[in-house]
Amino acid sequence: MTLEGVRGFDVHYGRGKLAEVVAGLGPWAVATQPEPWAVMAPTLPGTPAVVIEAGDLRLAHLDAVAESLTGVEAIVGLGGGSAMDTAKWLHHRTGLPLYQVPSLPSVDACFTRMTALRDGGGVRYDGDSVPELVMVDFDLIGAAPRKLVSGGIGDVLSCHTGLFDWELAARHGRNAPWDEAVAARGFEYLDELEALAPLLAAGSNDGVQRLMECHRDIGWMCHEVGHARFEEGSEHFFAYTFEEVTGRTIMHGELVTLGVLVMSAVQGNDPDRPRRIADAAGARTGLDELGVRWEEVEATLERLPSFVEEQDLWFSVANGLVVDDEVFATARSALRV
Ligand SMILES: [Zn+2]
Repeated sequence: MTLEGVRGFDVHYGRGKLAEVVAGLGPWAVATQPEPWAVMAPTLPGTPAVVIEAGDLRLAHLDAVAESLTGVEAIVGLGGGSAMDTAKWLHHRTGLPLYQVPSLPSVDACFTRMTALRDGGGVRYDGDSVPELVMVDFDLIGAAPRKLVSGGIGDVLSCHTGLFDWELAARHGRNAPWDEAVAARGFEYLDELEALAPLLAAGSNDGVQRLMECHRDIGWMCHEVGHARFEEGSEHFFAYTFEEVTGRTIMHGELVTLGVLVMSAVQGNDPDRPRRIADAAGARTGLDELGVRWEEVEATLERLPSFVEEQDLWFSVANGLVVDDEVFATARSALRV
């Protein structure tokens, strides 16, 4: 079984497509990160006019970069989520054609239209960017550590907690009303994720492609229905709170997976299923291997209810959550601490 009727941006799966594409471009700029750039640069004919190191997603910084791009005729995003987001914003500001080459199947950033800007300690979505082509290069993804590739499940696994929170919010008459057809598609993503998880653990390109097809359809759905409630809920809010509390981040997919494990347990929402999927995919979920301390998880949970109010995030199980010893015990058992 695979996900049927996938919609979304044009995508190419294979090898060497970026070299073909840039050969036909005028002066181009690349927004990238050191590791993926080191893999791809030697495979390309010629060099870009500008190399932008992605990482700083503050609006003022990105706008300054956009203004400096004189004489450039195309934008390439090459790397993880911040490279995709940087390239999207530069495209949004300049109108130059955009090409995206994700280095991990980790975030859906290459398949969504808005840019996740960092703003006032939170995340703000703005802009509207559609790439000419998304290129999923199996050599590039194969160069990444397999555990990080498996971490790419996070933004699909988030449907598990996101759908629960959406239903909860709808019952409280908050945010977007429940939509049975959209929710059904959300559950299909989870079924597909459960089916493809062992392929990721085995390092199969087919697993990568099927995961990316989920991200592609999710990106299309977000735009089509005008919100992301089916795939974003308290697990993402946990992730944003973690970033505020600790002043740092870890790979988005892994952080969101951590959020799904904790928040599905807090929700009382079949936490065994995301645990089963994460383990089958070979994703890292141990705090030690993620470099996260239990005290940071505690601090994140303590801050979560006030953070979602302050940031005016969608209604979820986090609203009004009384974070007591019982919640900590629940989270501890979900994380096997
Ligand atoms: Zn996400």
